[in-house]
Amino acid sequence: MAWFRNHYICERCDSTWADEWSCMCDDDCRRCGARHMTPYESDDLTTVIEPEGKEFVVLRSPESAEHEPNYREIGKFRTRAQAKHFLSTD
Ligand SMILES: [Zn+2]
Repeated sequence: MAWFRNHYICERCDSTWADEWSCMCDDDCRRCGARHMTPYESDDLTTVIEPEGKEFVVLRSPESAEHEPNYREIGKFRTRAQAKHFLSTD
């Protein structure tokens, strides 16, 4: 399962919002209730790099994730560059 942060803009009232979900799914406007707005942009958060103390932890959302990312640690590195390199070779 992937994990996404979806960005929406309402076609009716122009309000914007973001929501995190396990797919690039449509959402309803928080302000006026317009239905089925499609995200104009989605950030892929399936794997993320989080600073932790002096190190950088690589987290991945597992297949079982559905309603929350349920991140599991898959690596820990001394620099962000090393963490990125790990992800690029994974
Ligand atoms: Zn709206």
